[in-house]
Amino acid sequence: MSAPDWDVIVIGAGPAGALAAHQLARCQLRVLLVEKRAFPRWKICGSCLNGAALRALEEAGLGHLVDDLGGVPLERIRLGLQGRQLDLALPMGRSLSRGRLDLALSEAAVAAGAVWRLQTEATVVGSCAGGREVELRSGTDCQTTSARVVLLASGLGSPGLAPDLPIQTRISPRARIGAGCQLEAGVSGYGSGTIHMAIGRHGYVGLVRNEASDLNLAAAFDRPHLIAAGGPAACAAEVLAEAGFDPIPEAADASWRATPALTRRSTPPAAERLLLLGDAAGYVEPFTGEGMGWALMGAQAVVPLVLQGQREWSRDLERAWTRRHARLIGSRQRFCHGLAFALRRPGLSRGLLAAAGRWPALTAPLLQHLDGATLQRITPEPCP
Ligand SMILES: Cc1cc2nc3c(=O)[nH]c(=O)nc-3n(C[C@H](O)[C@H](O)[C@H](O)COP(=O)(O)OP(=O)(O)OC[C@H]3O[C@@H](n4cnc5c(N)ncnc54)[C@H](O)[C@@H]3O)c2cc1C
Repeated sequence: MSAPDWDVIVIGAGPAGALAAHQLARCQLRVLLVEKRAFPRWKICGSCLNGAALRALEEAGLGHLVDDLGGVPLERIRLGLQGRQLDLALPMGRSLSRGRLDLALSEAAVAAGAVWRLQTEATVVGSCAGGREVELRSGTDCQTTSARVVLLASGLGSPGLAPDLPIQTRISPRARIGAGCQLEAGVSGYGSGTIHMAIGRHGYVGLVRNEASDLNLAAAFDRPHLIAAGGPAACAAEVLAEAGFDPIPEAADASWRATPALTRRSTPPAAERLLLLGDAAGYVEPFTGEGMGWALMGAQAVVPLVLQGQREWSRDLERAWTRRHARLIGSRQRFCHGLAFALRRPGLSRGLLAAAGRWPALTAPLLQHLDGATLQRITPEPCP
């Protein structure tokens, strides 16, 4: 019986997959990182790294990367709701385009020894002796390879799982749809260093300048309203007006993209020789802008289990990942759910904004949460 081709196959080169590939390649494992798109690629995302995301990069030895790429320090967030606005100082954070960040993380993985296959779509299929099989498709070419452990970090889109695998993805019935576009630097207003968050009855729009001064718009909308309003550009214009923010005429002609339904959970986030991380394991709509932090922390946390899985696989590893993932990220996602619930109730969210304006100390827990300051720190596992 031949040994699996790879120690680890990582599917998806977003923050979760690229950082996991980097960490595992540094441990001298033979890592294949598979990405279905060409890089650099634009991705719908607010592009804001919070304190937790920056700390995860720091702990992985990549703390210099965001500043090297020109990440813009974020000093405040301006919330706009029903024509009223509130400015809050942010403890830390950077905005950086996803094209640049994800490319740099993947290149760091390659520099650490990982092999990177772009424009290749992977699907996790059956088991083989001592490993898990993965089908790789690139154009008309299709081949099957295998690894002792497979990490699925494929984000929200194509799950990359054969239908007979015992993992169910449940989408919340009221899940919003993400949408976004990028406008060139010449668009006026919305200065650098501030996250502008416009909140409306049927969704919200986050606006931020990136390292090239381009204006990044990332939004979440109720699906029925998105259809009724005639698309994301119309919905965004409506939300900006409701929040009392300046209109952006250029956004009407921008090339908007949309995501699949956002709030979802995959259960269990593990199967034989397979662990899910990042959005592929579960996601909650992006109001708190934490998804990259969750993805990067998940990448750090999964490493010890992958190392154990190289020697021998057992159901205990699957159970350990399910517990670790829930402890690390589940509680943060519950907070985010709670906030999303409040935002859908105009009276409640108006009351909260008024209270925050009157008693600024009330905003401390929210800001701590946005920063991820209360998160358990993940110390990288020493390589064996
Ligand atoms: C509107 C919006 C705003 C957001 N704003 C923020 C924010 O400001 N800050 C923040 O931290 N987070 C934000 N997020 C969340 C953040 O974008 C995600 O949580 C984060 O990208 C998750 O990283 P990931 O690595 O799990 O997945 P992704 O970044 O989605 O990466 C997955 C990768 O896998 C590839 N892939 C998919 N299927 C396959 C396959 N079968 N084979 C090979 N490759 C595959 C994809 O092409 C992709 O490159 C936002 C999300 C949305 C929708």
